[in-house]
Amino acid sequence: MARILVTAPQLPEALDLLTVTHEVIGGQEFMTRDEIASYIGGVDAILSALSDPLDAEMISLAGPGLKIIAQCAAGFNNIDVAAAKQRGIQVSTTPGVLHEATADTAFMLMLMVTRRAGEAERWVRDHKPWRYSHTFMLGTGLQGAQLGIIGLGQIGEAMGRRAAVLGMDVVYSSRSDKDLSAIDGVNPDTAPTRRVELGELLETSDVVSLHCPLTPETRHIIDAAALAQMKDTAFLVNTARGACVDEAALVDALNSGSIAGAGLDVYEDEPTINPALYEMDNVVLLPHIGSATRQTRWMMSKLAIDNITDVLAGRPARTAL
Ligand code: NAP
Repeated sequence: MARILVTAPQLPEALDLLTVTHEVIGGQEFMTRDEIASYIGGVDAILSALSDPLDAEMISLAGPGLKIIAQCAAGFNNIDVAAAKQRGIQVSTTPGVLHEATADTAFMLMLMVTRRAGEAERWVRDHKPWRYSHTFMLGTGLQGAQLGIIGLGQIGEAMGRRAAVLGMDVVYSSRSDKDLSAIDGVNPDTAPTRRVELGELLETSDVVSLHCPLTPETRHIIDAAALAQMKDTAFLVNTARGACVDEAALVDALNSGSIAGAGLDVYEDEPTINPALYEMDNVVLLPHIGSATRQTRWMMSKLAIDNITDVLAGRPARTAL
């Protein structure tokens, strides 16, 4: 019977599945660094979460039995993958099952911030006076507007498809060309999707949406200089990772009016959020719920468990990095 370390709250049905054949440690609460360190020497697999500190120092504490870190997320910026591989530990993530739900969240943030939905809902909840008025709570329409996607991977493409349905033109920046047929087939009225330099994307887009992984290259890819390049009518959406954006610079840009608003699901030091953002009506704040549908979370858990099962049976993980 293998020992599986589950470092964070997991779905009860996922824990049930694991306990049929394995001894499970954890799965109810978030483990601290010290708790993970105290267990990692004696387990065969880790079902990990995106906030776990699985750096080189932590991985050096792994016992000889540890064969896989099965991350229950698409991002893996918390894991020193090279250190794990050096120790013969496979690392897997959960691609292919969460991109639609996460793109839904990015799309929702884009609509909420451009149509002032958070502000409008707070208005009603605060019992402020209102009646239908031609001039009340006017937002920004997106038909014919340009969406700039930074990182056209699985989630970026799904966001592009949604934008095309809405009648938005799409440009993107990535390090390589992408197959654009899924986006360009959606709406004959939109312009063909184009790959552009980041500078052109920032200068010309009405909404900029981040969908790249957090890497040394993308840390603060949206900094003060990038924000200054954006139109003062443009909106920023971030469902990638908080540290892709310099949050202090974002606050400055919003305060000075150099961009029009922001829709955020992730934060540089989450769950702490720059206090100034709470006060801004042109900012939508979500608590990192990008992939949080019941169906998606189950598919993520199931895929992570399948990876563990494969590796413990001597096979490669099906979605290994
Ligand atoms: P993916 O399929 O791997 O796509 C990432 C894309 O980013 C790739 O196409 C890559 O293309 C591009 N990229 C990498 N470095 C770049 C750079 N320097 N500049 C521009 N583009 C770059 O990943 P995904 O599944 O779409 O997920 C993307 C990220 O979303 C994850 O890493 C994760 O951090 C985040 N995420 C957040 C939530 C949430 O709950 N909010 C949920 C899921 C995922 P090239 O290599 O060609 O550049």
